[in-house]
Amino acid sequence: MSLREEYARQEAELDELYKEIILDHYRNPRHRGSLASPSATHEGLNPLCGDEVTVELLVEANRVADVAYKGSGCSISQSSASMMTEAINGKPLDEVKHLSEAFTAMMRGEESIDPESLGDLEALSGVRKFPVRVKCATLAWHTVDEALEEAGL
Ligand code: ZN
Repeated sequence: MSLREEYARQEAELDELYKEIILDHYRNPRHRGSLASPSATHEGLNPLCGDEVTVELLVEANRVADVAYKGSGCSISQSSASMMTEAINGKPLDEVKHLSEAFTAMMRGEESIDPESLGDLEALSGVRKFPVRVKCATLAWHTVDEALEEAGL
């Protein structure tokens, strides 16, 4: 079985509701594009799967005033990036960092996190069944962390 077929099989195994949310973000990406003058930007790579996600953030008064992403790769990585932009847009930076930690903890299966507290992001929890794909789901969030860190924010 090729890697591509294997991934398609994995995605077919996700719960219907989860699949619908993930596919909706894949087909109708939110905040896809770039910003005129971002305060922070980073290009994230997941060599395991070949996913690329570039995140740009406009930060004003310690808050995400605008966010955009672009990239290519599997549906999980690109949907996760779209979901991430919706989750962080307008939020204070400390909340963004907290959300990133909580999402990563959920994807690692840590029991301290109630997936339902993460709203739509919970849809990606089904990906935990496929450990190699967890990096696809967390790529956009690690990229946000890196962008903020590099910008000293
Ligand atoms: Zn991937």
